Amino acid sequence: MKSTINKKSKKEILVVDDTPDNLRLLSAILTKKDYGVRKALDSRQAISSVKADAPDLILLDIKMPEVDGYETCIALKADPETCAIPIIFISALDDAMDKVKAFSVGGADYINKPFQEAEVLARIEHQLHLRDLQSRLEAQNQELIQSNQELEQFAHIVSHDLQQPLQSMMGYAKIIGMQYPDLLDTDANQYLKNILEAGDRMHCLIQELLSYARIGQAQEAFVPVDGNVVIATAINNLDGLIKETEADITFTELPTILGNEIQLVQLFQNLLNNALKFARPGISPKIHIYSSLTLDSSWLLSFQDNGIGISVKDIENIFQRFYRLHSNHEYPGSGIGLATCKRIIESHNGTIWVESKVGKGSTFHLKFPKS
Ligand code: ADP
Repeated sequence: MKSTINKKSKKEILVVDDTPDNLRLLSAILTKKDYGVRKALDSRQAISSVKADAPDLILLDIKMPEVDGYETCIALKADPETCAIPIIFISALDDAMDKVKAFSVGGADYINKPFQEAEVLARIEHQLHLRDLQSRLEAQNQELIQSNQELEQFAHIVSHDLQQPLQSMMGYAKIIGMQYPDLLDTDANQYLKNILEAGDRMHCLIQELLSYARIGQAQEAFVPVDGNVVIATAINNLDGLIKETEADITFTELPTILGNEIQLVQLFQNLLNNALKFARPGISPKIHIYSSLTLDSSWLLSFQDNGIGISVKDIENIFQRFYRLHSNHEYPGSGIGLATCKRIIESHNGTIWVESKVGKGSTFHLKFPKS
């Protein structure tokens, strides 16, 4: 919705009434309170006046010849340029005013004739105050969206530009290790190993940051993606870790989802990777993936593991960026995996949540709209 914020010092009110006496009376009341007043005698005049220069508020008579107040209101609310202007209906007490209709067509309030001056002013001030608050909220929202986009762009550029110097550092460290093995004593070799390990971690972190930032950027249209293919690809990509941990992974027939295949593989892979990583010491990971159709006709995909589990107090935080519950020595990671999962599922108009019991295991649920 495009909002119309009037920056003039005086608040401007458009009064629409086919009775000149009413126009005069309302105009006098409003001018006394230092409002700028514009007048229109019918719907056509009103709409062209609003389009030429948007007022801050419209007082609109319901009963007018040809096009009545309701129809005029509907036309103004249908136009993105004018829909945010508050409209207060005016109706004679003896008219059978349909109050429900007045609100359902988009009216903000109504005033009955004959006018009570104090009431007219109070209702107008209230609506103008609401409109001001709304405009401020919209402006702040816009600023937030913009600064978020700038931050994401910044994160993307920084991560991208960090890759090259990191590769050089790693490359030279490897050359030192290979070409000068005799020059290095045991301590120096250990330091070199530490440098390479830290470099590998940084490389992973940069890759994860880059893929996180990429999800927010403009993407291709969604296509039907076979969940069985996605899970098979994710399992294949994790083959080394699966063998190393002697994991047992089973899955039932999975549905076709409308989405982006690369992102869906990343989503499934992150969840599987965590299920493999956060295994209980001495117990091989047992992972089961299954799907069901919910009552509101969405697909529910669940990733169940028998790992260390997550405590109730941590559950609400684990989807935040960089939130980790363990040191890198206990379980390596960056804390971006689940934030990326959340971002992917939300960009697919779905949701993610987890049920877990410490020492028993966790089940991550993904809810997708049915394609
Ligand atoms: P990372 O795995 O890099 O630490 P994530 O964002 O993927 O970061 O996960 C955040 C935290 O949530 C993890 O550090 C871990 O404590 C917890 N977590 C995620 N998945 C599981 C799981 N399957 N079992 C237990 N804990 C998990």
